Order: sequence, then structure tokens, then C-alpha cells
Amino acid sequence: MIRAAILGATGAVGQTFVRLLSRHPLFEVVSVVASERSAGKPYREAARWLQAETLDPIIGDLVVQDVHASPDCEVVFSGLDASVAGDVEADWARRGYAVVSNARNWRMDPTVPLLVPEINPDHVALIDRQDWGSDGFIVTNPNCSTIGLVMALRPLHDAFGVEAVHVVTMQALSGAGYPGVASLDALGNVVPHIGGEEDKMATETLKILGVLEDDGVRDADLVVSAQCNRVPVVDGHFEAVSVRLKTPTTPEQAAEAMRSWRSPLEDLTFTTDLPAPLVVTDDPAAPQPRTHVNAGDGMTATVGRVQACPAMASDGRGVKFVVLSHNTVRGAAGCAILNAQLLHAQGRVQERVEA
Ligand code: NAP
Repeated sequence: MIRAAILGATGAVGQTFVRLLSRHPLFEVVSVVASERSAGKPYREAARWLQAETLDPIIGDLVVQDVHASPDCEVVFSGLDASVAGDVEADWARRGYAVVSNARNWRMDPTVPLLVPEINPDHVALIDRQDWGSDGFIVTNPNCSTIGLVMALRPLHDAFGVEAVHVVTMQALSGAGYPGVASLDALGNVVPHIGGEEDKMATETLKILGVLEDDGVRDADLVVSAQCNRVPVVDGHFEAVSVRLKTPTTPEQAAEAMRSWRSPLEDLTFTTDLPAPLVVTDDPAAPQPRTHVNAGDGMTATVGRVQACPAMASDGRGVKFVVLSHNTVRGAAGCAILNAQLLHAQGRVQERVEA
């Protein structure tokens, strides 16, 4: 087993880490960390448990530690609030921990991999450019809305070349953490502003689809324009995407490229079976958050409504579709756990050998 700590364990993403790791065959949670408000309390008292599954009793009994703790573990998952994640994650990397983060703070650092494991696993090599004065390092996963987008774009970029993307998001309430958006703002309403989200989608996408070169990642040569909205859905970020490709492409060819795309992780050996990263549906009324958000236990992004988009290009290079992905699983904790599994498969994080 690989021993793991969770930073920000009491939050929305932290609780998803707890739920997913409590039944994971490769990881054992030995430490839960949160703010001074929670430190010293049993986890079951500190966290207002909001997951649909019952809290694992062993983790429920763990006493929450503060960010100065030094647990005996190989990997540290972070769901820390961005106001503290930058300094705290750097401190843990300096102290020799492998930090696998959801927070935005280190994502765009040129030495830090911004990973969606199936999309750009080669970017892990950026770790070799980090120097924390220890064996520690930081890897990050993207913003929850960027993840669904790049999963759909990767096959199109590989097959036809993506030139421009316009995306309109409809993002779930759980993406704002707990308690998140006030009920009177959320119910029966759409809020057309999510701070920093549109910029993150534009910049993170270019790094993830970028090419790893000797001196770092060269951004992908495409432009992304995003409009991000909060909608009264509990889980699942839904995105309407229009793409201009480099070559004329029919909707059938675009759908087939996404259907037949093969994840590079299929060439590696993993401890667990991996869920399909991408599914394309022909159902004209799908995907929907209520029925499709938990596809692949929340790890599968579902694409539908693949059509021509004459507004993006009048010469047959425009394609539009919708994509749905689970924001706290594929878009956060699940992606980070798969990142750690990738680090293990590549030999960068080792299982503990008991004496
Ligand atoms: P959240 O529910 O507000 O949880 C924040 C966590 O950070 C809590 O465990 C909190 O502990 C801890 N924390 C806050 N201030 C702290 C401090 N001064 N020292 C130590 N710990 C502190 O937020 P969230 O939605 O889970 O998001 C967590 C991170 O993941 C954020 O960086 C967010 O941008 C990112 N993210 C979220 C999503 C999503 O869908 N929600 C998706 C992708 C990425 P206490 O309970 O003790 O206050």
C-alpha cells in the first residue's frame, strides 16, 4: 500500500478524496489535515460529511492535524483552499513529500506538470526540473471545467488539429465548495460569473495540450474563448463546445475520432482497472447531469450532440458538441488519484515495503 495524507480533507474535494481513497486498493489514508478550526477534532466531527456513502469509520476516527504535521506517508493529496495552498504545498514539497494538488496555485509554474493522466502523461517529466532541496515535488490537475474540455479536445487535436475553441459552461454548485453559492442566488437561476474560471480554461488548455520539449512545455497553438456559468445542478459540469479544426471534418469523422481514441495509459500497468476516459453517445437528449454524471464512477467524460458548426467555419472545419464530466471526481479528487497512480506506474512513487 501507499500511505497517503489529505490536505484540506474536510472540504468538498477533500471529502471526495476520503470517499474514493477509503476503498482504494493502492492507497491507505493515514492523515487528514485541515485548518486550525478543525485541527484536534476527530474527522467525523470536523467534517460536515456530505458524501452519499457512509464515512469510513477508520478515517472518521483520525484526529485532524494542522498543516505543520509530518505524517509518515509517501503521497499527499491536496484539496486546500487556494488562499493557503501555494505556501503550504511548497512547504510539504520542501519537506520531501510527493504533493498531488487540485489547487490552482502551482498549475501554471513552468516546472510543475498540469496533468490529466490520459491526456498528457508525458508531462510528468517536468518534475525533474523542480528543486525543492529534497526528494519532494508537486504535480497538479487542472480546473474542473478545463478537464472535461481537454478530454474531448485531445482526440480532435490529434486527428485534425484544433485551431479555435468557443466553450460555454454550465457548472454545478458543488464546484464552489461548501457551503458555496447562497441558495437564493442559486435556485431557479443562472449566475454568469465564476471568478477566474474563463481565464483558467483559456490558459490551462494550452499548457495541457502543449508539447513537452527539452526546455519545458510549449503551449498548443490554438485559442480558447470561454464563458462560464453557475447553474442549479448539484454535480456535473456541462459544456457546449464549438471548435474550428485545421482540416474539413464531418461530425461523423469527429465523433469517430473521439470514439476510437486510445488512452496512452493502456500501455502502462495499473493496480486497478481504469474506467473509459471518454464515451460518445448518439442519444439526441444526452448527456444530462442527472443520468450521466456518474458514468465510470464519475471518471468518464460523456460527449454528445456532435454536429457541424457553420458559425466556427463556413468551409466544413467547424464542429460542435456537448461534454459532461463529474467536477469533484474526474474534475478534482478522482483525477488527482489517477495522477498518483500514474506516478506509481512510472516508478516515481513507491509502495511501502514493510520490514
Ligand atoms: P472547500 O470545500 O472550501 O474546502 C477547503 C479546504 O481547505 C477545507 O478542508 C478547509 O479546512 C481547508 N482550509 C481552508 N483554509 C485553511 C487554512 N488557513 N489552513 C489549512 N486549511 C485550510 O473547497 P473545495 O471546493 O473542496 O476546493 C478545494 C480546492 O480544490 C480549491 O483550491 C479549489 O479551487 C479546488 N478545486 C475544487 C473543485 C470542486 O469541484 N469543488 C474542482 C477542482 C478544484 P476547514 O474545514 O478546517 O476550514
